[in-house]
Amino acid sequence: MTKVLYPGSFDPITLGHMNIIKQASDIFDEVIVAIMQNPDKINKGFFTVEERLAIINEIYKDNDNVKVISSSGATINVARENDCKIIVRGLRNIIDFAQEYSLQQINKEISNNEIRTVCLFADKDYQDISSSMVKELYRLDIDYSKYVSSIVEEKMKIKKLGGK
Ligand code: ADP
Repeated sequence: MTKVLYPGSFDPITLGHMNIIKQASDIFDEVIVAIMQNPDKINKGFFTVEERLAIINEIYKDNDNVKVISSSGATINVARENDCKIIVRGLRNIIDFAQEYSLQQINKEISNNEIRTVCLFADKDYQDISSSMVKELYRLDIDYSKYVSSIVEEKMKIKKLGGK
C-alpha cells in the first residue's frame, strides 16, 4: 500500500490542486493532503487552517483514499509520521519546476534519501490557476467560480458578507 503526502497551503484549494489530488489518487493507494502552516504566518491566511480543513474534508467526504491533515512541522517529519515515503507536488510551469527542484533536493538530503518527491504535471485546463489569483479576483469582485469547487465559492461568498 503506497501512501503519499501532498503538502501545501491550500488557501484556498483550487481546481488545480484538485486535479493533482485526482491524478495522485489514480496512481497511489492513499493521498494525504497536508495543510502546512507557517508559524510566522498564523492568522495571515485568507481562510484559517481550521476552515481549510473543514472545506477540504467536505470536498473529499466521499473519497476513502483522500485524507486531510494540518501541521506546522517540517514536511519530511509530517511524511514520516504518516508513513509516507513519497511527497507529491504539482507542476504548472518552469517556475514551479525550479522551486520544486530545490525543495526536493533538500528534502531528499535531510531525510537521508528516505523520502522522495514525485511531481505530477497540471492538466492543460488547470495550468494557470493559483490560490493567489483566485484571491485577487475575489478582492476585485471578478468571477472566480470556474477556478474553485462550489464549496470554496460558497465559503468565499460568506466571508465577503462578513460571515464565518
Ligand atoms: P505552496 O506550497 O507554494 O503554498 P500551494 O499550496 O499553492 O503551494 O500548492 C501546493 C502544491 O500544489 C505545489 O506543488 C504547487 O505547485 C501545486 N499547485 C498549485 N496550483 C496548482 C495547479 N493549478 N496545478 C498544478 N499544481 C498546482
